[in-house]
Amino acid sequence: MLLLVDLDGVVYRGAQPVPGVADVLAARAASGDDVVYVTNNSMHYRTDYLRRLTDLGAPVSQERVVSSGRATALYIAEHEPQIRRVLVIGAGGLERELRDVGLEVINGAQAAGRMSQEGIDGWEAAGHPDAVVVGLDPQVTYLRIAAAADAVRAGARFIATNRDPVLPTERGVRPGAGSLVAAVETATGVAPLVIGKPGPHLLEEAASVVGRRAHEAVVIGDGLTTDLAAARATGARSVLMLTGVTERAQLEALPVDEQPTAVAEDAAQLAEALERLAQG
Ligand SMILES: [Mg+2]
Repeated sequence: MLLLVDLDGVVYRGAQPVPGVADVLAARAASGDDVVYVTNNSMHYRTDYLRRLTDLGAPVSQERVVSSGRATALYIAEHEPQIRRVLVIGAGGLERELRDVGLEVINGAQAAGRMSQEGIDGWEAAGHPDAVVVGLDPQVTYLRIAAAADAVRAGARFIATNRDPVLPTERGVRPGAGSLVAAVETATGVAPLVIGKPGPHLLEEAASVVGRRAHEAVVIGDGLTTDLAAARATGARSVLMLTGVTERAQLEALPVDEQPTAVAEDAAQLAEALERLAQG
């Protein structure tokens, strides 16, 4: 089977591992399953996850970590090859993923700096980019948003890594990429192409790194409006983990056509669910 596995709320929760899940994934990989990790978080480069997942005992290689940033890079390379120069409002990991597929990256800080020093607009300051990619930028400023909006208004393709409204952190709930995307959308009246969950593109790009299609996958996630919705968008089966953001009462309130294929409260139940799904 192809397993597309969400990270936070499934393999770990914040700083704490979810007990046993990495071992279940290791056993599935040993018996021939393809395991690929999928996360809407665009801030980190894929190798940033290797040490942590390896230390947990999870089966991983850098090609098998597909963030919304990596998926955005793969999507552009595969589907929009005319895009060569990109203005990026996002973190360093996103810039690096985009450079890895051969894109020329101008970041928000560079564009904003030229706008204020040279008195030019964001489209000029970014060198007439073919696209604007907006993810979560923890250093975001008003001028960076202005640069992105100028370029979109001038005709650059508007692409969002994801639209998560908030980012849960150890210090509380912070604005997510969706909050910044909304600012650019509001300022321009242009709707972005969105790569991350709940749409299909992140899962499709993740499946493609192992030569598969997302509809063949079992999506393992803890989010109703992200993981389960993305699974439905691709026709994949799903296992909802109750180890993260979703409570059982929310699951029970879902309409029949939004229910996951299986539900697991812990690693043992996940192992059982995957065994059943593997048998048909
Ligand atoms: Mg999650």
